[in-house]
Order: sequence, then C-alpha cells, then structure tokens
Amino acid sequence: MSAKLIDGKKMASAIREDIAEEIKVLKDEFNVVPGLAVVIVGDDPASHTYVSMKEKNCKNVGMYSEVHRLPEETSQEQLLELIHHLNENDKIHGILVQVPLPKGINENIVNSHIKPEKDVDGFHAINTGNLFLGEETIEPCTPKGIIKLIKSTGVEISGKNAVVVGRSNILGKPVAILLLHENATVTICHSKSKNLKEHLLNADIIVAAVGRPELIKGDMIKSGAVVIDAGTTVVEDKLVGDVEFDKAKEVASYITPVPGGVGPMTIAMLLENTLEAAKKKCK
Ligand code: NAP
Repeated sequence: MSAKLIDGKKMASAIREDIAEEIKVLKDEFNVVPGLAVVIVGDDPASHTYVSMKEKNCKNVGMYSEVHRLPEETSQEQLLELIHHLNENDKIHGILVQVPLPKGINENIVNSHIKPEKDVDGFHAINTGNLFLGEETIEPCTPKGIIKLIKSTGVEISGKNAVVVGRSNILGKPVAILLLHENATVTICHSKSKNLKEHLLNADIIVAAVGRPELIKGDMIKSGAVVIDAGTTVVEDKLVGDVEFDKAKEVASYITPVPGGVGPMTIAMLLENTLEAAKKKCK
C-alpha cells in the first residue's frame, strides 16, 4: 500500500481564501476588521520566524495585525500590563503570546490574564475547561487543525482506535480530548509508556506529537492507519517529523508530510479563531 498524502498546505490555502472573503463581508456590513495582536518576548530565532509568518498570513487575508516584540529582560508585570491594554483595545479581537517565554515569566499566569474571548490560542483555563466539558469554546489551533486534517480523508473517526503520542497541554492532551468528542477510543502515550509499538499497532488513527525525529517507525504502524505527524525537529537544517515517513507511507492509508502537513493548518486555525472572535463581537 502507498498512502495518500494529506496536503495541509493546500487545505490551509483554501481556508485562508474563505477567511479573506468573510473578512470583506464583515468590513462591508459592520465596518469591522478582525485584529490579531502577537506578543513575543526575547530573541529565540525560531519563535521570531513563526511570529513573522503569522503577521504575513494576517495581512494576506486582510486582517489587522500588531506584533509587540519585547526584550528578553521584560518582567512578567510589564508583559501583563501590555496584555491588559490589548484586552481593552477594540481593534484587537485575538491575542497570542508566543512561547517559549523567558525564565521568570509563568506561561499559565500570562494566559490567565488574556480575556477568554480574545484567547485565540485557546490556552486560558476557562477555554481549556470548556473544551474538557465539551462546551462551546475556542479550540487550540494545532489540535483543531489536526481534526480537520483527519476529517479531510473521509475516514470515520467514531469508533476508531486513536493513539496520541505526547501529552503536552498545548497539543497531546487537547487533541486527545477532541478525538474523544469525535467518539474515538483514545489512548495517550508518553515518555513513561511501556510498549509504544504495541499501542501503535492497534491504532486506526495515530497522532504523533512528541518532537523526537522519526521515533515512530514504519513497522510500528498498522496497515491502513491514518497518520498525522505534528512533530517538527530541525535536523541538519531540515524539518523532520516524529514519523519515519518513507517507511510509514508504505503501510498507512493517509499520512501528513513534514513540512506541509500540520504546520500550515495551525496558522490557518489561528486566523479562523480570530475571525470567529471578531464575528462574535459583532453579534
Ligand atoms: P512537549 O511539550 O515537549 O511534549 C512532548 C511530549 O512527548 C511529552 O508528553 C513527552 O512525554 C512525550 N515524549 C517524549 N519522548 C517520548 C517517547 N520517547 N515516547 C513517547 N512519548 C514521548 O512538546 P509539544 O509542545 O507538545 O510539541 C510536540 C512536537 O510538536 C514538537 O516537535 C513541536 O515542535 C511540534 N509542534 C508543532 C506544531 C505545529 O504547528 N506543527 C505546533 C505545536 C507543536 P512526557 O510528558 O512523559 O515528558
């Protein structure tokens, strides 16, 4: 078997086109332009690249964008002060604080100061709580994008065995909850899990969210499985996923590439969440 590629780049591009159309309508009917503020603290080069990509994507769909680049020595208090200003700024519908943050700044405290309705990353405790409860919420971008990628295959999620490898608050845990809401039977594996291969061989759907290049080998994948690889690690200047792609594509039915799979969908979902936040404000 040779797996079909799930083209995240193409899907994200179609979503961005729809978003651009909706923004035009919002502007014409309500004179509202959705606005996203991104805050970055410190000099991490990869984070600066991600932030510039977000800025460019916002502009391309006609969204208002502000980027606040703060120095490494910024205190938590100074950062919270900026967030409070952005909370009160009517031009801003979404606020995102890029991680990682420098030592001395607590990510959870920072997220808790963003107004829940402007928390387009979906990391505020109210939004994660509502996600857990199955109530209406702002879903975190990467997990939301992953569910759309799986659904794009046409493979029914309900009743399937899904294995999520990784249990971080931003990725593994929320994607597992979303899969549960889709009625999958979900197993979460992590660094202390025994027999990863045994779990994976039972999976109809695999979501790899680890950050260990090619941890998941071809012989750990059940024939016909849908494989979503969220992992991204730079190895010798190349982005490498958590799945041994060349071998995995011989057994899987559908697979995402790295790059060009989950990554582009994450930004598309950020734009979608910001647009939704602006639409709610209009209502
Ligand atoms: P993280 O916070 O470091 O979490 C990694 C998870 O992997 C942890 O739960 C860890 O288990 C688990 N793990 C580590 N080694 C393992 C092993 N040998 N077997 C099984 N599980 C293992 O990372 P993250 O923030 O969730 O990100 C994961 C990956 O996704 C990274 O490569 C990141 O760059 C990528 N990512 C991509 C996007 C995107 O848009 N494409 C967005 C976010 C993240 P413990 O909990 O036991 O330590």
